[in-house]
Amino acid sequence: MMKDHKSELHKSRNTAIIIGAGFGGLSLGIRLQSLGFNTIILEKLDAPGGRAYVKKVKGFTFDMGPTVITVPHFIEELFSLEQLQDDLNKPDFPQEVLLNKDSEKTSTKKYAKIVPIKPFYRIYFHDKTYFDYDGDPVNTRRQIKEIEEEDLEGYERFHQDAEAIFKRGFLELGYTFFGSAKEMFKVLPDLLKLDAVRSLFSFTSKYFKSDKLRQVFSFETLLVGGNPLSVPAIYSMIHFVEKTWGVHYVMGGTGALINGMVKKYHELGGQIKYNSEIEEITINKRQNFFSKPKVSGVQIRNGELLKSNVVVSNGDYANTYMRLINNKFRRWNKDWKVKKMNYSMSLVVIYFGFKYDKELNLRHHNIILGPRYEALLSDIFKRKILAKDFSQYLHIPTLTDRSLAPKGHHAAYTLVPVPNNASNIDWSIEGPKLTKIVLSFLDSEGYIPDLQKNLVHSEFITPDYFENILNSHLGNSFGVEPRLTHSAFFRPHNKSEDIEGLYLVGASTQPGAGTPSVMMSAKMTARVIANDFYDDLKEWRGE
Ligand SMILES: Cc1cc2nc3c(=O)[nH]c(=O)nc-3n(C[C@H](O)[C@H](O)[C@H](O)COP(=O)(O)OP(=O)(O)OC[C@H]3O[C@@H](n4cnc5c(N)ncnc54)[C@H](O)[C@@H]3O)c2cc1C
Repeated sequence: MMKDHKSELHKSRNTAIIIGAGFGGLSLGIRLQSLGFNTIILEKLDAPGGRAYVKKVKGFTFDMGPTVITVPHFIEELFSLEQLQDDLNKPDFPQEVLLNKDSEKTSTKKYAKIVPIKPFYRIYFHDKTYFDYDGDPVNTRRQIKEIEEEDLEGYERFHQDAEAIFKRGFLELGYTFFGSAKEMFKVLPDLLKLDAVRSLFSFTSKYFKSDKLRQVFSFETLLVGGNPLSVPAIYSMIHFVEKTWGVHYVMGGTGALINGMVKKYHELGGQIKYNSEIEEITINKRQNFFSKPKVSGVQIRNGELLKSNVVVSNGDYANTYMRLINNKFRRWNKDWKVKKMNYSMSLVVIYFGFKYDKELNLRHHNIILGPRYEALLSDIFKRKILAKDFSQYLHIPTLTDRSLAPKGHHAAYTLVPVPNNASNIDWSIEGPKLTKIVLSFLDSEGYIPDLQKNLVHSEFITPDYFENILNSHLGNSFGVEPRLTHSAFFRPHNKSEDIEGLYLVGASTQPGAGTPSVMMSAKMTARVIANDFYDDLKEWRGE
């Protein structure tokens, strides 16, 4: 446990409310239960997962969101927690993890079966040539040589510099909670020295002449909502995270991992209530000018009131402040400030099942790049228009796991980045049109021959799903956009500056989006809570 001497002694009834059962809410629930809180998770939907919700239809199982599982150590850490067992003071990256020698994953095995996937991605360029990225230096160099021999030397330098960024930015600073500007200024000189603050695309362009290779080494941030043209080069660490610990799949789908997390949480005594949308976080007004308003609980849509002096929102940052907390209680996160921030792009995701009679020349994870890269990114992120061309990420888990579809069928999804709802796009018109175009593209361009003939099911979601079902401001798919001005101290804080007893966890908070970062955010939020409730926790734990 940690102690901040400035922290006030809180009198708690030992309960904590978490709004939302996404990766963030569940990870934090497991952590708080193990610390000694009685935790209740209140979830709007009828099942857990949030973005990782699972759709089951006509014998197909579709993971609706995350599919690329990285850093299995974070999962092992959660599954190995026990009642009143606190790992918050242990090293975040023990030696065996750094050396990748903790392959046993003993605790994980009790809850989920995780298998490595290779290649990590097959990246198709517009001319149908492809790059199988698998983290293996020999394979990587061979393919770079085939594309642009002169870039081999650039790759060696990129590798070295990205590794330095990974070591400083992820291993050393990854878990830093930037609660004040002071912490930010402490690390800034290092990041400048590593050239980690320029845009990722301009960073990769320093090393590679080939447009194709610039794309290969910069597209990954799109999977966490970052525009390669504006996300800081510190995100080149993703390349190294994957290279170090691999890309994984959970047998049965990501939903099986979510089920494992729910099981672990229940075993530790935690409760979840579904179909429980929070309408308001209730607040007691501040006692004097120098104190803060205090959280007192939540009100569920059915009118039920729950009391607690610890409330954590796993929901979208903008929605948490603007829709759940009266503006008068907010000094720092006023509506105007929340609205001024940039929110990540959105997605059209098409879930489809099809009969197959021939082998597919595809891999589990496929990136199919369109004819334009930088211009398309500008259309999505800056101009916020729906372009005629598109790039997509095509996921075919049944190439690894046949259990997700009826015999002789594949279950797949394809994800197309689109502008968020700050655009004026009418998705009730454009959604079905885009779905038709994308599926017929996969068929006519030979990625999935005869797809339309063999299609047995298809449905899609648009930014409206993210806005109306997942309560995400402007229908963002990944929370606050990861850009320099929304990173570290400038990213929403895991502990509210406005309201005492209010905390945030998940994609919008520090360190950022993507399942590994969200699990990190849960540990960071747990640390802050453990700090604030240090004395209470000691008492509950009989220390
Ligand atoms: C299509 C897609 C593909 C992705 N692919 C990958 C990938 O391959 N790898 C990867 O690492 N990341 C991926 N991501 C990103 C990753 O899924 C997210 O960053 C992560 O799952 C977010 O988790 P979270 O807990 O922060 O939020 P969420 O999953 O959004 O959970 C928040 C929960 O809060 C609930 N909620 C909101 N408001 C309320 C309220 N008022 N009352 C009650 N409940 C409420 C919501 O219903 C939701 O269940 C993908 C995202 C998407 C959308």
